[in-house]
Amino acid sequence: VLPVLLHLFIYRRATPTTLPSLLLLGPSGAGKTALLTLTERDAAAPTHTSTAPLAIEALLPPRLTPASAHYRSPGDPAYERARRFLLVDTPGHGKLRHFATAQLASPANVRGIVFMIDAASVADEAGLNEAAEYLHDVLLTLQKRYTGARTSKGPVEIPVLIAANKSDLFTALPPQLVQINLEKAITQVRKSKAQGLKDSGVALAADDDALDEEREWLGEGGDGPFEFRQMEEVGTSVKVRGGNVLGGDGPDVKDWFAWIAQQL
Ligand code: GDP
Repeated sequence: VLPVLLHLFIYRRATPTTLPSLLLLGPSGAGKTALLTLTERDAAAPTHTSTAPLAIEALLPPRLTPASAHYRSPGDPAYERARRFLLVDTPGHGKLRHFATAQLASPANVRGIVFMIDAASVADEAGLNEAAEYLHDVLLTLQKRYTGARTSKGPVEIPVLIAANKSDLFTALPPQLVQINLEKAITQVRKSKAQGLKDSGVALAADDDALDEEREWLGEGGDGPFEFRQMEEVGTSVKVRGGNVLGGDGPDVKDWFAWIAQQL
């Protein structure tokens, strides 16, 4: 009996820290809280424990197989274990974003980032720019994490899902258009950041090479348009998938969870 108890004890203690986690980021109003509430409700009661104020333990919906357990069958304890993950909410407003990006710099068992946006609000310039600026900073943090890595292999990949929420609204842009608009807006963000550095006098004393060093340029491809594809060079795949947490004929979050299943 003792070994069994010991085993249980170790298992219970070890589980919370070893669960893979997904960071939930995005501008405020995107629907992050709504998604957390939905996920929490659907999580099977016995496995649900809240481990930290901002993290909820979630369970992959039935019929979705975690990538790491694709050769196992439902019912197999290892299969069931692999379906569990933490969804970690991070404050998305103003200066609090530093908190979110700081978490990215040293993530513990982070398997991916779900960057949620309101697909209707990115149809207008203000909403689009807010999302693009935040996303730019997140991608730049991931890029720096990759290029600054000490090992030759580079750090473990952290893929990004852009969850284009509120597809139930008729003003919501389809995912393809969300992608095109965000890429264009990020191209602009990049340009104005470089211009800002120039104006601030970094260039005054230095030559162009020094300016290149100094400025933090997202993606490759020189001054041409930014595309999410460029992030693959720095170990980050970026995908855009539509869905809605509320409204419509009920929640449609299957594309997001299918993406999450691939990361577990
Ligand atoms: P957060 O700031 O990212 O946590 O966003 P919330 O979860 O608080 O959502 C902001 C607003 O959008 C709330 O009024 C939600 O009811 C609404 N909302 C969230 N998801 C959806 C959705 O899929 N469709 C629609 N129509 N509204 C949504």
